[in-house]
Amino acid sequence: MSHPRRSLVTGANRGLGLEFAQQLLERGDHVVATCRQPGRASALNGLVGEYPGRLHMLPLNIADPRSIAELARELPLVCDGLDLLVNNAGVLHSGERFGSVPPANLDDSFRTNASGPLLLTQALAPVLAEGARVVNLSSSWGSVSELEAFRTPSYAISKAAQNMVTALLAKALGERGIVVLAMNPGWVQTDMGGAHAELTPSESVAGMLKVIETAGADDSGRFLDWRGRPAPW
Ligand code: NDP
Repeated sequence: MSHPRRSLVTGANRGLGLEFAQQLLERGDHVVATCRQPGRASALNGLVGEYPGRLHMLPLNIADPRSIAELARELPLVCDGLDLLVNNAGVLHSGERFGSVPPANLDDSFRTNASGPLLLTQALAPVLAEGARVVNLSSSWGSVSELEAFRTPSYAISKAAQNMVTALLAKALGERGIVVLAMNPGWVQTDMGGAHAELTPSESVAGMLKVIETAGADDSGRFLDWRGRPAPW
């Protein structure tokens, strides 16, 4: 590749998204870091000075189709194509019990975790370079075959739906050589994963970037964990 790689990350203001932005900048990429409120993303704003001209921040609420359309309009102003799209933004509504699952949680999770990645990838498909990578951050809790208990249904259902999004996008984009992956990041120390999780964001993202880097056309549409091992659907 003759130009620096161009990457876009959603939910880049904290957690795994922030770590993706940081490690992509460290490896020399041009990074478009999106989040709901760039003005309040203090850690990201701190990185702008460290990587002059290589980090662009744009607003994106992945659950809002108008925000996705606005991002697609603004993106060409900061970047002339994309080699990597990381659909990282996600929401987990905890504390749900059978008998009282709030419909609003189901709606919000579906929009954020499933339809958001589909609509964003669809909107950005024209600017994805041949051979680009699209990565959807999935979860073992979205795995039907590994289900252990009635746990966080809004999250589990939306991540299972997102897995179908990955499989569909692999079909839609395969003829352009674009590789689409579902990735389980492991259990990671973020606001979502909690302080007692097994992995640091740094370990998880470094592992995922290695897997993304080495994935080939045959891997498109697969569900892999942060070490590259197959994850069960
Ligand atoms: P965090 O809760 O720490 O961060 C979530 C990120 O998503 C924040 O940047 C948040 O932005 C953003 N976000 C949520 N809703 C929206 C929205 N509507 N529009 C734009 N951004 C939004 O989560 P993690 O960093 O831990 O998780 C990242 C991804 O990895 C998620 O998809 C998650 O499901 C997945 N994952 C994480 C695991 C873990 O152990 N941590 C395990 C398995 C999967 P804001 O600050 O505005 O809320």
